Amino acid sequence: MKVLVLNCGSSSIKYKLYDDDQQLAEGLLEKIGTSQAQLNHTVTGRKKVVSVHEVLEHHSGIELILSTLVDGEKGILGAIDEIQAVGHRVVHGGEAFSQSTLITPEVLAKIEECIDIAPLHNPPNLSGIYAVSELLPKVPQVAVFDTAFHQTMPEKAYIYAIPYVFYTRNHIRKYGFHGVSHGYVSEEAATMLGKPYNETRIITCHLGNGSSITAIDHGKSVDTSMGFTPLEGMPMGTRCGDIDPAVPLYIMGKEELNQQQINALLNKHSGVLGISGISNDFRTLEEESAKGEKRATLALEVFCYKLKKYIGSYMAAMNGADAIVFTGGIGENSYTVRELATSDLDFLGIVLDKEKNRNKKRGEAEDVSADCSRVRILVIPTNEELVIARDTRRIAVSN
Ligand code: AMP
Repeated sequence: MKVLVLNCGSSSIKYKLYDDDQQLAEGLLEKIGTSQAQLNHTVTGRKKVVSVHEVLEHHSGIELILSTLVDGEKGILGAIDEIQAVGHRVVHGGEAFSQSTLITPEVLAKIEECIDIAPLHNPPNLSGIYAVSELLPKVPQVAVFDTAFHQTMPEKAYIYAIPYVFYTRNHIRKYGFHGVSHGYVSEEAATMLGKPYNETRIITCHLGNGSSITAIDHGKSVDTSMGFTPLEGMPMGTRCGDIDPAVPLYIMGKEELNQQQINALLNKHSGVLGISGISNDFRTLEEESAKGEKRATLALEVFCYKLKKYIGSYMAAMNGADAIVFTGGIGENSYTVRELATSDLDFLGIVLDKEKNRNKKRGEAEDVSADCSRVRILVIPTNEELVIARDTRRIAVSN
């Protein structure tokens, strides 16, 4: 069954086309809203094709992607009606969605309601859904939510210590994100451990441009580091993560910044970029740190120290763990981050095999813990699009 997976951001659309679990094509359309939008399109086993177009909104972006998929030279499909279902990544499902769902008018209305709490993320997701409804009106569409996996968290983990009325009236609480990835790698981890998923305690560290850590107890998310928005938790590439909430108020007063400016400061100019003043990319930071650049080293230390503290606190939340999983661009590729974040945790039964960790092969799932380690340290490549494709297939077939 051929399924198109779409991840619509504010100015970009990522896509992958699957035939069952087999990836047929993938691509990224960037700079939507301009006459210089760039489409990078790759059919599996062929060379990447890059082209530039005027694409002013998501509708024409998706039209371009569909026409590329059926193009005689660049394409892979004989006709557009070969696509039997479309799966959308939807960032925020609020408290309404604890699993993936077929998109109906009622579901659309609920996703619209979530715009209030996810004003940056849900509108482009919705634009993608509306565009597909017009371009492929007969094709079932499925929404896969970043927040759904964390809906199992207990109240004590998701309620903030502010007046309770802000929860009941404004829905302010911890939601958590990256749920598709945390769910996927934790299930893969259970397979590697040779244990039933619902008998495991796993800490998953999704470390990429955005980073979040999740405690998964007996197959259920019980705590996660991101919050009401993806700004809470770990310091990230450009996001501040946990800070004293009084700090933005103080800076706003001192520097006379408005809400929009402080939002940009905390989301786009903070994190390891803010500390180092050099880059949000961990490859650059590691290179600069090796050359003796002190603030690059400091940024890496702040990141890894925070990660270590999250691992410790989630061990406490679950009374131990069977495995710690590293995934995402940093988690999968940076042996330095894995080494720093797991150092001196032998009192918790966490011992890394430094050799294995350094020699870990790119793109493969591997156990990098020492033989004596009670807690396994696993590196598992995530595959969010595959999860979306599978959920979409399952739901489209059963409806
Ligand atoms: P993601 O958002 O999961 O695609 O992760 C992207 C981030 O992963 C990049 O911004 C880099 O900081 C990081 N990254 C990718 N490859 C490496 C690597 N070999 N070493 C360190 N960091 C890496």
